[in-house]
Amino acid sequence: AAAGQMQPSNPTRRHFTIDDFEIGRPLGKGKFGNVYLARLKKNHFIVALKVLFKSQLEKAGLEHQLRREVEIQAHLQHPNILRLYNYFHDARRIYLILEYAPRGELYNFLQKSGPLDEQRTATIMEELADALTYCHKKKVIHRDIKPENLLLGLMGEVKIADFGWSVHAPSLRRQTMCGTLDYLSPEIVEGRMYDEKVDLWCVGVLCYELLVGKPPFESASQSETQRRILKVDVTFPPSMPVGAQDLVSKLLRFQPSERLPLAQILVHPWVKAHSRRVLPPCAQKAS
Ligand code: AMP
Repeated sequence: AAAGQMQPSNPTRRHFTIDDFEIGRPLGKGKFGNVYLARLKKNHFIVALKVLFKSQLEKAGLEHQLRREVEIQAHLQHPNILRLYNYFHDARRIYLILEYAPRGELYNFLQKSGPLDEQRTATIMEELADALTYCHKKKVIHRDIKPENLLLGLMGEVKIADFGWSVHAPSLRRQTMCGTLDYLSPEIVEGRMYDEKVDLWCVGVLCYELLVGKPPFESASQSETQRRILKVDVTFPPSMPVGAQDLVSKLLRFQPSERLPLAQILVHPWVKAHSRRVLPPCAQKAS
C-alpha cells in the first residue's frame, strides 16, 4: 500500500518534495549524483533516493536519455526489476524514488566473494530470463545486462537496474564506445541493426563471468576483445560445469536468431537442476 501511493500511474498521484523524506546514509556515488537510503516521513517506507544534478546532465546532453530511462523503468513492475516508484525535481536537482536493494551491486559481491556456485548462478539465470521475458513483451530491450547493473534484494534475488541504455525495439542506434566492451554482442560491435536478442548474448556472457570469474572475451586490448567477440572465440575452463557450458554455448551464437530463446533458458536442464529461485512475498503481491 505504501508503494502504491508512490506509483506514477496512481490517479491520486501526489507530488513529492525532498521534505517528505528523512535522508539516511549514502548508498553509492554515480557520475551525475548520489544515491541515499531514505524513508518517507509519513509511513516510514524505505526507498533509495537517487539525486541527479540538472546542470551536470545538461552539460553531458543526457536529459533525453534520462527521460527515456525514467519513462521505461516507471512502467516496469516485476520482482527482478528495480522499481522506480516516482520522481520529482527542484531548481537544481532531479530525484528518482527507487526501490532499495539491501544487498547492493552484484559487481561488488563478485569482487569480494569471487565466482558464484552453480546454485546462485542458475538462480540468477532463471530470474533474468523471467524479467527479460517481461521486458521483451513490452518491447523494451535492456542492452546492458552486466554485474554493474544488477542489484541484489534482501534474499539475494537479482534486480535489473539502470535502464540508461535501454531502448524500445527495434533499433539502429549506434552505441558510443565507452566502458567495458566485454558484454557487447557481435551485431552491436559491428554497428548493425539489432533487436531484443542482444540481451540473450549478454545473459550468456554474464553466466560465464559469474561461474568463471572473468568474462569470456576479456583481452589486453579493446581491439582484441572486439576481434574475439566477432569470432565468438570462447573457451570453457574444465572446471566449468558441462550443463552451464551447454547453456552458454547456446546463448553465445553470432547469429541472433540462433541464440537460445528466454523460454528455453527457463527450462534448460542445468537451470532446472540448480535454480533455487524464491519470490519474496511482497513481490508476489505486487505482480
Ligand atoms: P548509480 O548512480 O545508479 O550507478 O548508483 C551508484 C551506486 O549506488 C551503485 O553502484 C549502488 O551501489 C548504489 N545504489 C544505486 N541504487 C541503489 C538501490 N536502489 N539500492 C541500493 N543501492 C543502490
